[in-house]
Amino acid sequence: MGLESGLPVDGFLTTSLSRLVNWARRSAVWPMPFATACCGIELMATASSRFDLARFGAEVFRFSPRQADLLIVAGRVPVKILPVLQRIYVQMCEPKWVISMGACASTGGVFDTYAVVQGIDQYMPVDVYVPGCPPRPEMLIEGIMAIQRIIDEDGIPKSSEGRRVPLRLELEPTYEPQAQPVDVSIGAT
Ligand code: SF4
Repeated sequence: MGLESGLPVDGFLTTSLSRLVNWARRSAVWPMPFATACCGIELMATASSRFDLARFGAEVFRFSPRQADLLIVAGRVPVKILPVLQRIYVQMCEPKWVISMGACASTGGVFDTYAVVQGIDQYMPVDVYVPGCPPRPEMLIEGIMAIQRIIDEDGIPKSSEGRRVPLRLELEPTYEPQAQPVDVSIGAT
């Protein structure tokens, strides 16, 4: 990869164990997708080649909660499905993180009805709220990077009883559309 040639022959690094662990943890976030509606399509796009979530080490979507540490709730959550979502959250390994993607997951969105949960944060801790209807993939990537920064800084908040408390970060909906870095138009060379 060219890395070895840049390193001194007998070089060494010193660091703390926690920094090393956090570096590994933030470089290999494994998301658990819980996509119930249209936001799920943007979630799929985020992992695809155009947006390439692999650049941030978080593209390995796991469908087993025991092998995932980032729950991404994308779409509205009907009351009937809520126990399933909660069970998945409980089964995920620690430390774990939760992103509420889109207006429906965060507030119920336009579905102001008794059958739809009016914000998943009433039933589980949410670390990052990603705004939009739907949020663009770039916005979701912002949310994942926010969690990576917190992991980097060893900022896993705990209550006095040692229990994990939610971060409740709200991303600003300030995304401005820009040209994609790669020309994907038909016929491009
Ligand atoms: S926030 Fe909008 S795009 Fe996302 S699930 Fe709700 S209606 Fe669909």
